[in-house]
Amino acid sequence: MRQGRHFLQIPGPSPVPDRVLRAMDMPVIDHRSAQFAELGRAVLEGSQRIFQTAGPVMIFPSSGTGAWEAAIVNTLSPGDKVLMVETGHFATLWRQMAARWGIDVDFLPGDWRRGADPAGIEERLARDTSHALKAVMVVHNETSTGATSRIGEIRAAMDRVGHPALLMVDTISSLGSVDYRHDEWKVDVSVSCSQKGFMLPPGLGFNAISDKARAAAKTNRMPRSYWDWEEMLKPNVNGFFPYTPATNLLYGLREAIAMLLEEGLDNVFVRHQRLAAATRAAVNHWGLEVLCQEPKDFSPVLTAVLMPPGHDADQFRKVVLDNYNMSLGSGLSKVAGKVFRIGHLGECNELTLLAALTGVEMGLSVAGIPYRAGGVDAAMKYLEQRPQGNSPAHLKVVGS
Ligand SMILES: *Cc1c(COP(=O)(O)O)cnc(C)c1O
Repeated sequence: MRQGRHFLQIPGPSPVPDRVLRAMDMPVIDHRSAQFAELGRAVLEGSQRIFQTAGPVMIFPSSGTGAWEAAIVNTLSPGDKVLMVETGHFATLWRQMAARWGIDVDFLPGDWRRGADPAGIEERLARDTSHALKAVMVVHNETSTGATSRIGEIRAAMDRVGHPALLMVDTISSLGSVDYRHDEWKVDVSVSCSQKGFMLPPGLGFNAISDKARAAAKTNRMPRSYWDWEEMLKPNVNGFFPYTPATNLLYGLREAIAMLLEEGLDNVFVRHQRLAAATRAAVNHWGLEVLCQEPKDFSPVLTAVLMPPGHDADQFRKVVLDNYNMSLGSGLSKVAGKVFRIGHLGECNELTLLAALTGVEMGLSVAGIPYRAGGVDAAMKYLEQRPQGNSPAHLKVVGS
């Protein structure tokens, strides 16, 4: 038993705000009742605002992985070719899932240190003159590396070569934290879930879809039942679900959406950028290396930090957990043991972040890892010199 709150500084699940916890502390109600329909309509409409879409958003009782599967089985057919980009661990998992469904994946290789390259995608699509590629599938924020891909630029690249492929985006760890525009970027399927920027417990998966994606679902040949969009969309019109929904998570979702809209999405995005930049100021001062090498792609959601050679990241994370009751994210697959990840998303502000960075800095000392003291001061300086901004213009100027 440890005093005080556990610091959950992993990039999802993220800490659940008290307001959301209280909103979920409700009796389960009849999911066929008029009272439920009100809740159903509120969360379905509210979700549209977070995805920045006027089109339908579906909410499945599932993890993000389930929502990945829904995107695949509703749009593609066995044998279809798709283009995916190796941004990191999550892109690799989505690719494996597509392959299991009989999809022929052209996987653009990557070094796990940057987002997807719009020029590389453009070049590959330009060569596909017969339009064999049915979809471009990209992870917006690669949670394993801390690199964010520029989806607007990828859309522009697709438009320049006039390629008709569907654009499917995993916005699982970016939605509600990083600017994301389903309609403006003409994304066909946006995939998300509850336990990252939505600040909810795990258990909800989302698909936001375009008319083009819905049309593809009418003619594709993949078997499906639980994930079938049309089965979901029919009752959704009246605020209902085709099977028992995760009622109490929906209470939480209604509250989380209210919190995001009260703060204002632009302010939410700026806050994440500031906290991320302050984190990088600390990491740079410590003399450690940020895994992401492309400043344009630095993630506002998390920072993956490379350990100095000869030091194990998991050993370090254990020191931090044992001494300071804080969980840091582990390195996944290719970068296991080589990086640790600091989550700075969702329910996070200046003082939460500074406490987390303090735990990291003390952990570096206790674990005997070579570093330069004063990283927390560097982060403080960054935050002091750049007071919280409210204008959307900040979205562009707050960088490294
Ligand atoms: C967390 C995450 C997933 C997986 O979501 P689950 O809820 O664990 O299934 C997929 N993609 C990205 C980018 C993620 O961050």
